[in-house]
Amino acid sequence: MNSIYWKNKLLKTIDALCLASTEDNIFYDVLYCEGTLYTGEKVRVKVPFMRLNKGSIKEEILKYAKDENVYAKGLSIFEAVIINEPPDITCIHGNMQLKQVMDFVFYECNECGAKIFYDC
Ligand SMILES: [Zn+2]
Repeated sequence: MNSIYWKNKLLKTIDALCLASTEDNIFYDVLYCEGTLYTGEKVRVKVPFMRLNKGSIKEEILKYAKDENVYAKGLSIFEAVIINEPPDITCIHGNMQLKQVMDFVFYECNECGAKIFYDC
């Protein structure tokens, strides 16, 4: 899958902005963002943020959009937000860190290696 920056005028819509978090985190991490070009091609979309504050997702996206002259509403980015809540039990440490291997993004405990996968 090709990838483009969200500012690119070829981008018609954002289809999925996949967010996830771990239990005691005040942020949602961006796992991935996908969209569709005017040509119909599905692409990975690069956004200028890696994480968003849980209490103000929309406000923060709007701020980034304004800074970069992106028409967020026109891209349907707010409808595309998918939030994955963390599972109740992960491991006793909960020292989770976001990792990426190829196209897979997941959390891994720094102490025991327990992993959380989301398939949004
Ligand atoms: Zn652990």
